[in-house]
Amino acid sequence: MKNFIDLHLHLDGSLPYTTVRKLMNIHNFQNLSDSQLKEKLSVSENCANLQEYLTKFDFPLLFLQTKFDLELAIFDLLKELRTQGLVYTEIRFAPQFHTQKGLTQEDAVKAVISGLEKFYKWQEQQNDNHYSLHANLILCLMRLPKREYENNLTVQLAAKYANRHVAGIDLAGPEGPIPNKKFRPFFENAKELHIPFTIHAGEAAGPESMREAMDLGTKRIGHGIRCLENNQLVQDLVKQKITLECCATSNLNTKIFKNIDSYPIKTLLSKEIKASLNCDNMTVSNTNLPKEFKLLESKANLTQNEEHQLLLNSINAAFTSDQEKRRLFHIFN
Ligand SMILES: [Zn+2]
Repeated sequence: MKNFIDLHLHLDGSLPYTTVRKLMNIHNFQNLSDSQLKEKLSVSENCANLQEYLTKFDFPLLFLQTKFDLELAIFDLLKELRTQGLVYTEIRFAPQFHTQKGLTQEDAVKAVISGLEKFYKWQEQQNDNHYSLHANLILCLMRLPKREYENNLTVQLAAKYANRHVAGIDLAGPEGPIPNKKFRPFFENAKELHIPFTIHAGEAAGPESMREAMDLGTKRIGHGIRCLENNQLVQDLVKQKITLECCATSNLNTKIFKNIDSYPIKTLLSKEIKASLNCDNMTVSNTNLPKEFKLLESKANLTQNEEHQLLLNSINAAFTSDQEKRRLFHIFN
């Protein structure tokens, strides 16, 4: 079995269908046919842009609002990832999106941690040949108006739960209307608190959004695929050893690229940019990481050496301990 690492995976956009059905049942949602459910959770080929893509999170968030929901969601997701051959992953979610039914952000974080720890206990009981899947959590700040209080709280929680699997923070949400530079205070705070961070940029918004993210001090950029529009930016990414968390199918869905043949993962690697390959949202994009690698092998001529490089880049950029990195290097050697 091939092994993989995913550094960029959103919990609410990656729920297995069986988990969605369990949660809909518990919350007395009307039963939907497979095709109706797919329409609610996944984008079609006609998805126009990132704005439309982001609407696919509305439905799953309706039933990710209790401790039970969140525990089950992460537990089932990790089980699924383990069957796909993942050995390390960082799962991200925005605690402020799980407070519609009375949970606090902290309750939401604790629930996801609890589900992750339950998965570890379950994994210990398994007697198969799989490598263990280790997971960390990234808490997303939201690039939305009037979220100062909520975003600030998320930073505090990342610091508080740093020794309980919370490995860093992220900035997610629509790209464009509010520039990344407006979020400087949160990232200054994160630096003071020694919280690692990554920032979504260079997807719907162009190279300038990446430049702003780099000015905030990020070492990882979510997507960043539009860096190739600016030569100086490419040089600076290489010089500063910034890792790009590339997500191919997701970028096709949001129409950054017309088809997979033009997805420039090989170009990034040839320019010595530290690119990694990730899923973003398994359910929204109808994909998983083994599929993403296969797709690029067959449609973009990704070679075994290049795949190996993508995985090594993931290990180097992971928000995890040196001991864990040594385990991962050993697996991929
Ligand atoms: Zn993302």
